[in-house]
Amino acid sequence: MSDQDKTPVPTVALRGHGGDVPIPQLGYGVWQVPDDEVGPAVTAALDTGYRHIDTAKIYGNEAGVGAALGQSELAADDVFLTTKVWNKDQGYDETLRAFDDSEKRLGRPVDLYLVHWPVPAQDTYVDTFRALLKLRDDGRIRAAGVCNFEIEHLQRVKDELGEFPAINQIELHPYLQQEKLRTFHAANGIVTEAWSPLASGGDVLTDPVIGHIAQRLGKTPAQVILRWHLQIGNVVIPKSVTPSRIAENFDLFGFELTEDDLAAIVPLDRNHRTGPDPKKFG
Ligand code: NAP
Repeated sequence: MSDQDKTPVPTVALRGHGGDVPIPQLGYGVWQVPDDEVGPAVTAALDTGYRHIDTAKIYGNEAGVGAALGQSELAADDVFLTTKVWNKDQGYDETLRAFDDSEKRLGRPVDLYLVHWPVPAQDTYVDTFRALLKLRDDGRIRAAGVCNFEIEHLQRVKDELGEFPAINQIELHPYLQQEKLRTFHAANGIVTEAWSPLASGGDVLTDPVIGHIAQRLGKTPAQVILRWHLQIGNVVIPKSVTPSRIAENFDLFGFELTEDDLAAIVPLDRNHRTGPDPKKFG
C-alpha cells in the first residue's frame, strides 16, 4: 500500500489468501446511503483518510461505491474493500454468480467477501461459505468471512469445512458488548468486526458514563465509543453522511481511554440489539 505510511489507522491480521492479510482497523460503512448519494460520501471518507469501505449487495450502492473509488487517485490496493452475499443468493453456485455480479458493479477487486446473515432456517450457509473459500483459494478475494454468525454457526463451518471464517462482523456497541462471541473469536483466530458501532446513533451517544469520559478527555461521545472499540481490538466501520462526523469519527488516534474508563463501560452492556436476532432473521 503506497500511502500506508501516512495513515494513523493500525491494521489487524486476517487469515487470507497466501497468509495474513492486513485489514485497517477503522473503516467506513455505507448502509442506507443511496447509490446516487454514496459517491460524495465515499470521496469525503477517502479525503479524510479512511482506506477501508464496507458495502453489501443489499445496500444497492455497489456501483456508486465502485465509481467513487475509480475516480479517486488512490490505487486499488490502497483501499480495502468489503462486500457481502445476500440471503437469497446463498448456495454454492448462486454465491459464485452473486460474487461475479458484485465484482462487475464495483468494477474493482474485492478484498473481503462476507456471508451477510446465517439464515439458519434456509440451511445454506455452509455451502455458501464453501463458495467463499473457493473464491479465496482462487485468489479472487483476499479473505473470506461472515456476519451475524453465532457460535453454533461458526462451529458448524469449522466442523464441515475444516476452518473458521477469518472475521465475523456482528452488531456490537457498549449496549451490546458480545462478550461470549468475542471470547470465542479470540480463542479461534477469528477477527471481531463491529457493525452499528454507535448503535445506529441511538441512546448510547447520550449515555452519562460515556458523556463523563468524553468531557474529561475533551472528545465527543462518538469518539469515546469508537476509541473503546479500537482498544478492545474490534475492527470498526462507523457510517455517517455528514462531513463533520466523517472527520470526527476518524480523529481517534491522539488520545486513549484509561483502564478505569474501559472498566466503567463494561457494566453498560444491556444486551440491547438495534438490528434483528441472527438466529431468526432471513
Ligand atoms: P452506526 O455507524 O452505529 O451509526 C450511524 C448513525 O449514527 C447515522 O445515523 C449517523 O448519522 C449517526 N452518526 C455517525 N457518526 C456520528 C457522530 N459522530 N455523532 C452523532 N451521530 C453520528 O450505524 P450503522 O450504519 O448501522 O452501522 C455502520 C455500518 O455497519 C453500516 O454502514 C454497514 O456498513 C455495517 N452494517 C452491517 C450490518 C450487517 O448485517 N453486516 C448491519 C448493519 C450495518 P448521519 O449519517 O446522518 O451523520
